Amino acid sequence: MKIAQIELFQVDLPYSGGVYLLSGGRSYTSFDASIVRITTDDGQQGWGESTPFGSTYIASHALGTRAGIAEIAPHLLGRDPRQVDRINDAMDEALVGHNHAKTALDVACWDVFGKSVGLPVAELLGGSTGVPMSMISSIYAGEPEEMRRRVADHRAKGYRGHSIKIGALDSEGGPALDAERIAASLADKQPGEFFLVDANGGLLPETALRMLRMLPPGLDFVLEAPCATWREMISLRQRCQYPIIVDELAQQDEDIAFASAHDVADGIGLKISKAGGLTRGRRHRDIARAAGMTVSVQDTVGSSIAFAAIVQLGATVPPRTLRCVLNCEDMVTLPTARFDVLTEDGGILPPNAPGLGIEVDESVLGDPVAVWSD
Ligand SMILES: [Mg+2]
Repeated sequence: MKIAQIELFQVDLPYSGGVYLLSGGRSYTSFDASIVRITTDDGQQGWGESTPFGSTYIASHALGTRAGIAEIAPHLLGRDPRQVDRINDAMDEALVGHNHAKTALDVACWDVFGKSVGLPVAELLGGSTGVPMSMISSIYAGEPEEMRRRVADHRAKGYRGHSIKIGALDSEGGPALDAERIAASLADKQPGEFFLVDANGGLLPETALRMLRMLPPGLDFVLEAPCATWREMISLRQRCQYPIIVDELAQQDEDIAFASAHDVADGIGLKISKAGGLTRGRRHRDIARAAGMTVSVQDTVGSSIAFAAIVQLGATVPPRTLRCVLNCEDMVTLPTARFDVLTEDGGILPPNAPGLGIEVDESVLGDPVAVWSD
């Protein structure tokens, strides 16, 4: 089996909640998705998506994603898409870094692989645990009582995990406002619920410590990505009584190994496009398992195709260390595929269909913006 054609599509995904507010005054209303279709010489098709969270979240952006795919795609023609590690070697030889560009191509290869053997991708990644996974909400930063209401809305929809965004600028209210946001968001916490408090790197050790000291005692949450650099994270880690997980800083394999070796964090936010796809995401899953770190399987954002990849990988993380998966499909108003996730005991599982388990709605994709074929 050989890759005969690669098509690239561009789709705008409006944010379903209006305006998404993040630390440092960042705001987002729509996300620019790059979607890839790989077709093999025997007619198999696979899909992959990479949707950066704007251009101010991590070092990835939509124009760069598509430029990176254009750089790599010609080097994949004629290769066997089932040799996923060799595909990644070829991508690395064609372009250094740029995980977000590699993601759509890598995920499309896994989709082809699964369809070619009639198995869901989760089975190829080691097998679904069969344990329903909790979904996590994404509660953007706002007024404390309004955030509390949005947590309640997601609770009513069945979400058992909640990611509370903080990181107020001093001009907005600083550490005191963030402490109020946390207390309000956790005020109605139910048994079995899991809370992440996510600053997306927006705090300094000083502002983080001030904020934590203003909190009432006994709140049960994990602090995610408080600081933007390893130096700041290590400094805070030594003086912080709350568990900490890394997200934006954990991109390459060596970042996860570093976080483990230097005991910087208790877990990782495993975002598939940040990691560079399912092949590298699988590796991050395994490094985290070896280190006894918890994992939340997510993506920067994305539509139905990205959600399918999250569910397939998430299902293979041992339940003891899996905290939750992100339903990014729910964060955007445009479905790009039919993905009939299974629901059970308030959690979700991948469908039994082969590959990613999706049926892409080609009518929303438009014409490809680029095509490579041999
Ligand atoms: Mg995060």
